[in-house]
Amino acid sequence: MNSLYSSVQYIKGVGPKRAKVLKKMGIENVRDLIYYFPRSYEDRGSFNKIKDCKNDEKANLKVKISGAPSISRPRRGMSIIKVPVSDGTGVAYLVWFNQNYILDSLKMGSIIKVSGKIKMKYGQIQINSPAIEKDDGQNKRVGRIIPIYPLTKGISNNEIMKIVENALNAVVNEVDDILPKDIVESLKLYSIQNALVNIHFPKTRSDYLKAKQRLALEEFLLLQLGLYLIKHKNSHKSQGIKFDDVIEIKEFINKLPFSLTKAQQKVFNEISKDMESPKVMSRLVQGDVGSGKTIVAIMAMFKAIRSGYQAVMMAPTEILATQHYESISEMLDDYGIKCELLIGNISAKKKNDILKRTREGEIDILVGTHALIQDTVKFNKLGLVITDEQHRFGVKQRALLTQKGKNPDVLVMTATPIPRTLALILYGDLDISIIDELPPGRKKIETYATIAKMKNRVYNFIKKQVKEGRQAYIVCPLVEDSEELSLQSATELYNSLKKYFVDLRSGLLHGKMKGKEKDNIMNEFKKGNIDVLVSTTVIEVGVNVPNANIIVIENAERFGLAQLHQLRGRVGRGEYQSYCILISEGKSQIARERMKIMEQTTDGFVISEKDLKLRGPGEFFGTRQHGLPDLKIANIFTDMKLLKLSQKVASYILKQDQYLQSKKYTKLKEHIIYMFGDRIEDITLS
Ligand code: ADP
Ligand code: MG
Repeated sequence: MNSLYSSVQYIKGVGPKRAKVLKKMGIENVRDLIYYFPRSYEDRGSFNKIKDCKNDEKANLKVKISGAPSISRPRRGMSIIKVPVSDGTGVAYLVWFNQNYILDSLKMGSIIKVSGKIKMKYGQIQINSPAIEKDDGQNKRVGRIIPIYPLTKGISNNEIMKIVENALNAVVNEVDDILPKDIVESLKLYSIQNALVNIHFPKTRSDYLKAKQRLALEEFLLLQLGLYLIKHKNSHKSQGIKFDDVIEIKEFINKLPFSLTKAQQKVFNEISKDMESPKVMSRLVQGDVGSGKTIVAIMAMFKAIRSGYQAVMMAPTEILATQHYESISEMLDDYGIKCELLIGNISAKKKNDILKRTREGEIDILVGTHALIQDTVKFNKLGLVITDEQHRFGVKQRALLTQKGKNPDVLVMTATPIPRTLALILYGDLDISIIDELPPGRKKIETYATIAKMKNRVYNFIKKQVKEGRQAYIVCPLVEDSEELSLQSATELYNSLKKYFVDLRSGLLHGKMKGKEKDNIMNEFKKGNIDVLVSTTVIEVGVNVPNANIIVIENAERFGLAQLHQLRGRVGRGEYQSYCILISEGKSQIARERMKIMEQTTDGFVISEKDLKLRGPGEFFGTRQHGLPDLKIANIFTDMKLLKLSQKVASYILKQDQYLQSKKYTKLKEHIIYMFGDRIEDITLS
């Protein structure tokens, strides 16, 4: 049996207690451990001279213990050991607090290697609690490049280093090379064993680079091939629907209360062309918040229905689904188009009625949440599938909805715009349209970052705006992914604000409410019967109340840029000057940086690019956001070259063997499944 997948306790130095800590870090089996990569490295490979040491800088020294240690006891229970060392260029002092046992390992005249941070103190060069090591030719902690791991409470870098080393020694030869030999050889890649050893313990920088290249390439390749297999599954039945050229759409457009922007027209033309061709449409519409994606989707649905088909539209929240349902009904009722809403929270009777009428083709457009994916939902003649804010859904959910029709056309919409080059890769299975223009007359949202001390001024400002007839959102964050705690904090905030805003009408909205309650609150807010809506992030996507012109985001430092941008998009939707106020206590560099970016720009593309740079694409493109596997080492943003190379390799492989059926790809295929998990399980790989 392969010990790679045995519990980490199989490794020397890991007992039940440590296994528990490791589990918190996502490490359960031995493979997880050797794929737990360092986040950075510290080069203790070369030695500094004492005379070159500078205050507050890290130094590695190879020194002789040049004198007897001194021990002082400045007060009870405290002892300070000081040991003089020299390397011929100067003298330094190693300092330890309360660690008398260290004396045993320090013999006068012996040579040791030392690493630590330099402190200039009393005219002396000191190093507090340095890492030390005998000069016995075995470089463990000093004298080599040290991996620095992401840590959690209960385990130190040294400890992880040791157990990773033990794990590598025990099992690295059991790791299978999933890349076929010919590819490894022709690209002169490290073998997987070599790569794993060197990603943890590189001897030189170039070892590290080679290891990283190999591992990142492999990761990209798995991603590319996985996406291809998903895409292929969706498109091999490529004969799709040929929708009509519906002249009536012109009339519909003319009757709109506004004229379409050039970008909306352009994108609708692209969609029309796809729909009229017999090929199956798979198109992504990217457009910043407020760019008017909904109307474009409505036009596409109009076209589908006038061509004799049904359409379905899925949104990530009940609030958003309800809102879409309302605007669609409002716009299409006059044309005799029947629209219904399917969400989790409706009566069984109503639900059965909707299901029946959908099945019989009486309903033209069904709008809903992921309740739409259920098996009981069947269509008579489904021609067009739309998912809104698609980053909230996985690839698989999208696929399940699509399977409810016979090769229906597919449109996905997202307000998380990303640079085109990246979109092409991430949405490898989609064509891309971009609405790169906002409707005219929008006032730029003024954004201010401030601190909690200023809250009263912020609230006074809200009062003033409400007196003028406007409405406000106050957003409190999810607390560490706990709905319970977020609810608690939202409720607390709501109660304290209620006291503050005695003469205003306030409401509370959170994720734990029943669908009906949520709808009620949202409707009251829409109708203007609530002035201040305190809410968790459930309002994040798509909510549209043009009269609301202020959004206050509490603990803004807890949100990512993309999310802040989404939240800000709740205002600036009407004719009024709008404001976004970010209240943050975040003192970290990254938090301050985020606030600054929010103040400076409202362009979603710019923001997503900065976000990528700040948090790294690993997080940005996390599984949750895109239904894609996390990348451990490859960086979509900085490893563009490798990404392109992986695309070449992928197409080379697929040209030879479209379904990875030959024996030399067996391992590769297994790993694609491992990486994509259940997102790919229903995809025929053979
Ligand atoms: P998003 O792209 O964020 O989904 P919506 O589709 O919700 O944006 O549109 C935001 C608001 O802009 C809606 O109130 C919509 O009616 C309005 N809108 C859409 N297109 C235009 C346009 N061309 N001119 C003026 N207002 C528009
Ligand atoms: Mg929208």
